[in-house]
Amino acid sequence: MAKNNPGDILTGDWNPIIGCQKCSLGCRKCWYLDALFPWLKRLGKIPTDVQPSAAHVFENRMASAYLRSKNGIVGVCQHGDLFWDEVSDETIHRILDIIEETAATMRRVPNYVLWTKRPQRMANILCARYPQGTPNYLACAVSIENQALADERLTHLLRINTTRIAVLEPILGRVDLQAYLAELHWVIVGSETGGDDARTLDLEWVRHIRDQAVGAGLPFFIKQLNTDHGKKTIRELDGHHWDEFPDGFNK
Ligand code: SF4
Repeated sequence: MAKNNPGDILTGDWNPIIGCQKCSLGCRKCWYLDALFPWLKRLGKIPTDVQPSAAHVFENRMASAYLRSKNGIVGVCQHGDLFWDEVSDETIHRILDIIEETAATMRRVPNYVLWTKRPQRMANILCARYPQGTPNYLACAVSIENQALADERLTHLLRINTTRIAVLEPILGRVDLQAYLAELHWVIVGSETGGDDARTLDLEWVRHIRDQAVGAGLPFFIKQLNTDHGKKTIRELDGHHWDEFPDGFNK
């Protein structure tokens, strides 16, 4: 899927598996389960017998040839969560094998982003597979909604020697990142999307994150600040568009 929205950090995605289950505060208005899955099913792009709550592998997409057409910043398994416990270890390693095979054949290797709300399993698998650190084209993003989840999830993210991305989306409270900033590489913020019942965003939470990221010299990116409940996408904070990427990440 092309990512033409300026608020999206990705230029493309690769979805050889789909499926997930709501597991966290930020899942209340899951873009994939609530909107994309039913739409793709109506279009016939998902087999009729596949349920959203089951992990499904698209065998035809499990190939280097399928991934090779993606470039820039590529989200891996954006239609679900690769580290959901319904996805087998074997499937996760097959996906990592395909990324490695593809990268080995490319002159200009994209940034592949593994993105999860289940960083404990991500850390267990990646630390065992890459004890010296992940390949430099692989980055790890963890979604965070509040302080308690930041403390829980960033602890696992920091176990992985990789490019570490903290995605505070949907941000649901004030979050202090001071204990983690020195080991992060990118900080991203976004509000909840999805219309009138999207939860309220307090811009002071966003300013607090921005000030911490800027103070630590980290690139800072705002996906959307939907203070008007999604009637239009707002990305500007205090007169500035925050569109910063880590070195080597080009959209
Ligand atoms: S973890 Fe992500 S994909 Fe899974 S239910 Fe939550 S928001 Fe949706």
